[in-house]
Amino acid sequence: MTAYTPLIAGNWKMNGLAASLAEAKATAEGLGETTARVAICPPATLVAQAVYALKGTKVAVGGQDCRAEVSGAYTGDVAAEMLADAGASLVILGHSERRAGYAESDANVAAKVEAALRAGLEPIVCVGEMLDEREAGKALEVVTRQVRGSLPKSLAGKAFSVAYEPVWAIGTGLTPSIPEIEEVHIAIRATLIDLFGDHGLTVAILYGGSVKPSNANEILHAAEVGGALVGGASLKAEDFLGIIRAL
Ligand code: PEP
Repeated sequence: MTAYTPLIAGNWKMNGLAASLAEAKATAEGLGETTARVAICPPATLVAQAVYALKGTKVAVGGQDCRAEVSGAYTGDVAAEMLADAGASLVILGHSERRAGYAESDANVAAKVEAALRAGLEPIVCVGEMLDEREAGKALEVVTRQVRGSLPKSLAGKAFSVAYEPVWAIGTGLTPSIPEIEEVHIAIRATLIDLFGDHGLTVAILYGGSVKPSNANEILHAAEVGGALVGGASLKAEDFLGIIRAL
């Protein structure tokens, strides 16, 4: 018996037009009696429309990033308050594509987490090692450092999740072995307990990186895996439902 409800969240990245919401609706319609929480994180342009399309269903809507500030001269950026105003209830923060492409540090991610909490959004905080770090035997060191640096103390008592996403597994079709996933998830759990005490037991630790219907069953049943953050396979309802049903 776990102290949290598993979460399966789809990260659409920079994919999707209004017509793509048919896939989100099909996901909601096909959910059945799943015990998981399910969320779709479309591009910012689709958040409000996704909220409208999924109203009354069990599928929540999240953003993919937010800026730490409430408002201001930040052309192109989106505040946590704007996502909440559009009806989002979650937000992905610290995705490796943000960390690498926008030089986001752990401190930047922690500031964004504070912003999410300020706006009433539930953060999904991503961590994960690069291939050279894994090959150098540093995966646990890198990931636990990211967890400590990206999770502010203000998360104590709040709802949030952590997504372990090895950078080399994202969009590549490669995945770590089950013992490798379990080793990292167990280390993240220990770090969460160290940081937040018993509250650390209530945090779902998602795995992300090339999850698909064919590998979801073994990944989702691995020790300390509390759901998945799914990229490519969340774009098609059939694939996303195949993962959700594997729980
Ligand atoms: C992601 O972008 O968070 C992700 C896990 O992508 P994919 O499932 O496509 O590897």
